[in-house]
Amino acid sequence: MTDNKNTICCPACGCEMKKIYNSEAKINIDICTEGCGGIFFDNRELNKFDETHESIDEILESVKDREFRKVDESETRICPICNVPMVKMGAGVSGVEIDVCNICGAKFLDNKELQEIRSGEKVDLTKAYAVFEALYEENLQNVLGDNANKPASPSPRRQFFEDMVCSFLVK
Ligand SMILES: [Zn+2]
Ligand SMILES: [Zn+2]
Repeated sequence: MTDNKNTICCPACGCEMKKIYNSEAKINIDICTEGCGGIFFDNRELNKFDETHESIDEILESVKDREFRKVDESETRICPICNVPMVKMGAGVSGVEIDVCNICGAKFLDNKELQEIRSGEKVDLTKAYAVFEALYEENLQNVLGDNANKPASPSPRRQFFEDMVCSFLVK
């Protein structure tokens, strides 16, 4: 999906969002500068900012030293582009819950959540996989059938695990 040019209303508080140009990623991000401080990312845009080496100076500048309206983060948000309810999803390992639109892939982050995601520790996949395998050994066998034990790198089990984990991650 291309950069959305239209002004949109904040899915959390209804204020008109302001487009902030990010010079590094060369895209506009919608930020609720007059309301709750939330940030709306079009499909995939968030990937450009969730790693700490990616610059979010312009974003931070636009929300710096400001008091924002308090919003109920547990409320269901409506995607301002598609008009459908967004789904709550964990963003990677950060423990931060964000709103995702399953139709257009847009993501909405409440104020400060971007910083929290970026500072989140990277998950240790190998450790997580060991726990996963111990817990779901039988199910893995059922789901993957004979393929489960095929010699491959990564093994079919591990591949299945990674696919599953990735579906929970932001990327
Ligand atoms: Zn807002
Ligand atoms: Zn949408």
